[in-house]
Amino acid sequence: MKYVYTLQEGGKRMTSLLGEKGANLAEMTAMGIPVPPGFVATTDACAYFLRTGNLPEECEAQIKGRLPYLEDLAGKKLGETLTVSVRYGAKVSMPGIMESILNAGLNDETVKNLAREGGDNFAYDSYARLIKTFGVVILGMAPEKFLPSGSAKRDCDAFKKAIEKEKRRFPQDPEEQILECVRGIFRSWNSQKAVDYRKNNAIDNAMGTACMVQAMVYGNLAGSGTGVCFSRDPSTGKKKLYGEFISRRQGEDLVSGRLTPQPLESMKRSFLSAYAELGTIASLLESRCRDMQYMEFTVEKGRLYVLEAATAKRAVQAAVRAAVEMAEEGFITREEAIMRVNPYEADALLRKTIDATASKIVIIRGTGAAPGAASGEIATDPKKAAELAATGRKIILVRKETSPDDIPAMAVCQGMAAATGGATSHAVVIARGMGKPCVIGADMSVDYETGTVSAGAAVLKEGDTVTVDGSTGEIFAGEVPMKEPSASNEFETLLSWCDSFASMKVLANADTPKDAEKALKLGARGIGLCRTEHMFFGERLPMMQRMIIDDDKTGALDAMLEFQKQDFIVMFKAMNGLPVTVRLLDPPLHEFLPDADKLTQEIAALRKEDKDTIQEEKILENVSALREKNPMMGLRGCRLGIVFPEIYRMQTKAIIDAALETGASPEIMVPMISSWKEMEHVKKIIDDAAQDFMTKQKRWANYSVGATIELPRACITAERIAEHAAFFSFGTNDLTQATYGFSRDDAEKKFFTKYFKDGILEENPFATIDRHGVGALMRIAIEKGKRKGLKIGVCGEHGGDPFSIEFFNSLGIDYVSCSPYRIPAARLAAAQAAIRKKGISS
Ligand code: PEP
Ligand code: MG
Repeated sequence: MKYVYTLQEGGKRMTSLLGEKGANLAEMTAMGIPVPPGFVATTDACAYFLRTGNLPEECEAQIKGRLPYLEDLAGKKLGETLTVSVRYGAKVSMPGIMESILNAGLNDETVKNLAREGGDNFAYDSYARLIKTFGVVILGMAPEKFLPSGSAKRDCDAFKKAIEKEKRRFPQDPEEQILECVRGIFRSWNSQKAVDYRKNNAIDNAMGTACMVQAMVYGNLAGSGTGVCFSRDPSTGKKKLYGEFISRRQGEDLVSGRLTPQPLESMKRSFLSAYAELGTIASLLESRCRDMQYMEFTVEKGRLYVLEAATAKRAVQAAVRAAVEMAEEGFITREEAIMRVNPYEADALLRKTIDATASKIVIIRGTGAAPGAASGEIATDPKKAAELAATGRKIILVRKETSPDDIPAMAVCQGMAAATGGATSHAVVIARGMGKPCVIGADMSVDYETGTVSAGAAVLKEGDTVTVDGSTGEIFAGEVPMKEPSASNEFETLLSWCDSFASMKVLANADTPKDAEKALKLGARGIGLCRTEHMFFGERLPMMQRMIIDDDKTGALDAMLEFQKQDFIVMFKAMNGLPVTVRLLDPPLHEFLPDADKLTQEIAALRKEDKDTIQEEKILENVSALREKNPMMGLRGCRLGIVFPEIYRMQTKAIIDAALETGASPEIMVPMISSWKEMEHVKKIIDDAAQDFMTKQKRWANYSVGATIELPRACITAERIAEHAAFFSFGTNDLTQATYGFSRDDAEKKFFTKYFKDGILEENPFATIDRHGVGALMRIAIEKGKRKGLKIGVCGEHGGDPFSIEFFNSLGIDYVSCSPYRIPAARLAAAQAAIRKKGISS
């Protein structure tokens, strides 16, 4: 069996056997790029070693057999002046996780030869490093046994003695050293650090590492140096050689961050030809690998050697620019360019993000619910928060829990944090829609009386400055430096390509004319969900509350009609012929009813002043009568429209009136449908109201009526529902809540942490769709709906989640609808899903 390949035998395709680094080095060797000669012991040899504790005999023989080859190519002999590096390299990169061994081949005699070449200091320093690494990595000794004394020569003797005392004699035979190093590299695959890293990064334990043995080149000689280089700027993607260089040092000194290197251009002064050669190699590698490249290199006495090359890690801005420019240069196709950008990262292009290099102290942890970062002074009272924000102060609203009362403050604050809440609770949905960074489930207690926020030992007061990171869920003390959003022309170009490949459209969840405009700018192809109850937050809330609690709703309904009509006119005009889905009222009553405790207090205060309380008492009576034990399963959605048909009649009239005025063809959506009878019943209310209004007007508008599919029963009985619906839109928030029986407002805070810890849940099903349960129900409904030719969309929060979008595409969904700021990432994810699907089916 062949366990050892020379770099001249291997190639790029052999990553499983030679590791990524080994395969890349072999490829570069084949391309004529100057790479120190060497060979690779394969991952098969590693697997054998891990099974048996020994190298296969053939492997040992093959390593020994390759040493003369190495000597020939290097023009040096082991035992004289040839030394080698022995490095690890798995199929998947594990940077800095395992150890590499340098200078193998040095012994008490050869160190003298090296000293003749580079001086005593250099030679004995190299030898001491080898002995120390051998002790620590190969023999497992404590690093403290190898503390430097200031004299490298003295260290060599002391280190050898330490090894001899605790383990055995430090081997003087170069061949024996090399074999020991290969064994040590294979053994370190199972070091705790490596095992933990693989666990955290979901890397297969069985993969094993390859081991490269290469002739050493020295950057720490006179006329030498070492550096790293990118073929394009990894922060911006600009096409120019970018990197760092340091004279008279070895690579380890550079990557460890112990020393401050110079910009790569500094090479031009003393290493002009090596610098030029680096540029040529970077272009050569880019066009061969068709992607941005990263290289580690050494210049030894003016001669350039590439020690490692790989696809460059890059910031998302750079990924976008490099991908678009490479497609325009004809290097890669547009599909490939689209696949190069991670949609989860693309989000950062639209929002402020915390500067990763800034020093910061986390004081509170929670769940990131609406991405982006913001700093401001703490305010715990929404009214006061809004007032302060109006004076130009930057405010972070901090609450025990969120409610619609907070929404006017949210609109003017920089961001918010709450001790409770879930990713799909309505206040969070709204924060996301507004593009406000939001942390929920934060580990803190909020005292509204004193305006203090306590988290562990930290006690914060109103007016103290904090920074919230709505992506990670962290809250930091003070103002932390941030990076501005950096969406570019290239990103626009990439997104325009996305739309031509995607089979699913991306629409917006937009409740106000302002949202609609924002959504259009970010590329929405229509509005997939307008939650009409959200049109009544802020100063309009009392109108909505009256409508819910008044016995005679006429007054409130008349007032609402006019507001609704005007809003629809603006939104229909803004969307200019694109589809607009308006959902009839779906207010979970607990979110919209006046607070009973507050009312009781008000009544008490009025009584104290001997004032009349009849009106307040009536309100309290109605509020108490409407109060439900289980409001999420209560009088909401179409149930409200069935109990109070005048509400849906009013809304239909407002929609049709606006449609007549603008020429729009609205899609009217009925929420919380559980049975075809409900659908039939509500459709009749809508149709009758529309016909009645249009007949009176003697003008006719096109409209259609569809169902929100957000209850398991609706999925199962979708065929009958489809008889009365023109379209389905999955409300995956409620569908997830109802399928699992998990409260979308509380589950995340109450028990998800434990569920994640115990491996019961892997993902938050309110953020990423549960394919097995909720997904299976969706599949049933889609099949039934498609049979009747219905248009089918998703309007729950999952419609903006890239991983869920991939799944929706596989189900044949026609569109997803999400909050405006999530639209670009959703467009990218939709295109990637279509490209992947095409790739699989072709
Ligand atoms: C849903 O349940 O997914 C949905 C879109 O409706 P809401 O979030 O308004 O309940
Ligand atoms: Mg819903």
